Amino acid sequence: MTDRRADADKNHPNEFALTERIRRATARPVARVRVGIGDDAAVCESPQAPLLLCSDAMVEGTHFRLDWCRPEDLGHKALAACLSDIAAMRGRPLYALVSLALRPDLPADFIDRFYMGLETLAARLDVAVVGGDLARADHQVFVDIALAGAADAPATRSGARPGDLLLVSGTLGSARAGLVALEGAERNPPAELLDAHLRPEPRFDVARALDAPGLVTAMIDVSDGLAADVRRLARASACGFIIEETAIPIATAARDFASARGIDPLDWAWSGGEDYQLLVAVDPDAWSEQAAARPELKRLLTPVGRATAAEAGVQRVKSDGTREDAPDSGWDHFRR
Ligand SMILES: [Mg+2]
Repeated sequence: MTDRRADADKNHPNEFALTERIRRATARPVARVRVGIGDDAAVCESPQAPLLLCSDAMVEGTHFRLDWCRPEDLGHKALAACLSDIAAMRGRPLYALVSLALRPDLPADFIDRFYMGLETLAARLDVAVVGGDLARADHQVFVDIALAGAADAPATRSGARPGDLLLVSGTLGSARAGLVALEGAERNPPAELLDAHLRPEPRFDVARALDAPGLVTAMIDVSDGLAADVRRLARASACGFIIEETAIPIATAARDFASARGIDPLDWAWSGGEDYQLLVAVDPDAWSEQAAARPELKRLLTPVGRATAAEAGVQRVKSDGTREDAPDSGWDHFRR
């Protein structure tokens, strides 16, 4: 962290003091970190495996609103969103750099609460926060998290072949239901929907369960909605996909919440975004073998379709058996 004391504001500690608070909040000893926060750069042991690097930025007003998102939730979610990309590569996360641009009118304990939420998740997943930067934002809070991780056998988006099975972990659409509940200031919305939006869980459990060699051919995390992310998988793998809509897993709470508002819950599954589940193409023979031997796989993942030739594009089979192009509206960060 740089020490730009010129940023000092009379209502706020200067950057040196804030950095000291962050250093204390993230002071959990991690043996592989030789020098953590407090020097010009961290010194970390590097793994004997391919290194994964990714980052994720969140902007107030675009990705979150502080009137309905507690600082703890923001810290959790900003890290979780970035971790989800490491999970999607079947990697293990190691180090995080956290950069924040903060408004001067934020409550004094904002940063402590933000780091409490972030550090709780980081500690649980053995991620060391080793640095970052602080800056002043005039209007919107900005959070950028960069992660380093490692993967012995990284899963990429590009290996799906026609005939592969397409699976999705967990359920889709709940995060959007939670967002709609927050936007509408609903009274007593189901807690699981709010949690899905505010405190997503990166699916390392699923990624780890898929470690059999030759099983996964392509993988992506569903951050922008099934419609957008299955197209990314299709493009990278140069194949198409056909998805059975009746097979798409949707939580009962999300289904009920949507239906009560005259909304088709499938719309939220296709286009809601921020579910941070894993969308996985697998070799069908390897899947049959693995799923028979390890029943937990069938609990973690639901088959929703299969890979086809590229010319077919991404299609859906509706509940009445008709087939058409899948919706193309994903979560567009630039439109919100
Ligand atoms: Mg991703």
